[in-house]
Amino acid sequence: MTDAPGLVERWIRPEIRALSAYHVPPAAGLIKLDAMENPYGWPAPMVDAWLERLRAVELNRYPDPGAAALQAALRRSLGLPEGTALLLGNGSDELIQMIALTLAEPGRTVLAPEPSFVMYRMIATFTGMDYVGVPLAGADFALDRDLMLAAIATHRPAVIFLAYPNNPTGNLFDDATLEALLAAAPGLVVIDEAYAPFAAASWLERLADHPNLVVMRTLSKLGLAGLRLGLLAGAPAWLGQFDKVRLPYNIGVLNQASAAFALEHEALFAEQTARIRAERERLHAALAALPGITPYPSRANFILLRVPPGRAGALFGALKDAGVLVKSLDGSAPQLADCLRVTVGKPQENDALVAALGAALDAAS
Ligand code: PMP
Repeated sequence: MTDAPGLVERWIRPEIRALSAYHVPPAAGLIKLDAMENPYGWPAPMVDAWLERLRAVELNRYPDPGAAALQAALRRSLGLPEGTALLLGNGSDELIQMIALTLAEPGRTVLAPEPSFVMYRMIATFTGMDYVGVPLAGADFALDRDLMLAAIATHRPAVIFLAYPNNPTGNLFDDATLEALLAAAPGLVVIDEAYAPFAAASWLERLADHPNLVVMRTLSKLGLAGLRLGLLAGAPAWLGQFDKVRLPYNIGVLNQASAAFALEHEALFAEQTARIRAERERLHAALAALPGITPYPSRANFILLRVPPGRAGALFGALKDAGVLVKSLDGSAPQLADCLRVTVGKPQENDALVAALGAALDAAS
């Protein structure tokens, strides 16, 4: 009888064995600026009202599989036009997975610019598809139009993922270039608007112009990361197919009730995200004032910054020692050498980050 490692060697696909599980570092006791969360909670009366709402939720019953009430609230909130369908996922991660599962066939390609959100590549691998990453160009991490068009012509991707704004670079891609990609793409194009609450730009209104476009959103960055709720909007013809691979009860009763409750308090989230956007500009200026630090412009709730050559690891460690957890991207892509990514937190958290980074730079000079 072969032992478990032997059986794994025999049966688990080599590309899965080669992966590392998505790593989430422990953050207990640290100022958490690594995961693009909204740092603000809810006022106590709102928490009480939410808990009161949950009293009526029947945990012994399966959830509404189509989450009809929540879907209606989301449609209103997004201002979705008639004729556009909506599909909900356990986070937008699950929607990426549903899209890939539906389109997967050996030899088919998932294409995305790089660096971008790592789950595009990971989920392509999970579903046995080929993955092609096309490097972003220049100091502003723009789409390389010619390179993208050439890759589309060569690989004929079943699906292209475009994060708008892009994670981890924070920029919006150029409109005309995206139009050109949509025109050239033989398959589906997913514009992933995870950071929409901070971007003041969206492709939702243009869904009707492009039969190969779907737009993805999430409530995570808005302030509901713990809830796990992602949304996909697009033509019913596409979404009807994706819906077939959705596990029947993917949005639990607590999630449905809590998200519907949250949508009744949109003013609070609008106020919080406005505060985060204002704070993003203040943090950007404070980072830019530090010697040797280059923060990039951001349309999201995080800032990518470049530190002096060879110092990213040490500065990441010094920040952690000072109680601030950020994300080091050094080594993750050629364009991200010496780069850290910091989430915009509360003013005092951002002050702590800037002070700790300043002190670590001073100590080294
Ligand atoms: N898309 C992008 C571009 C992201 O950065 C993230 C999270 N980091 C996600 C999707 C996934 O978000 P969630 O699963 O929380 O909805």
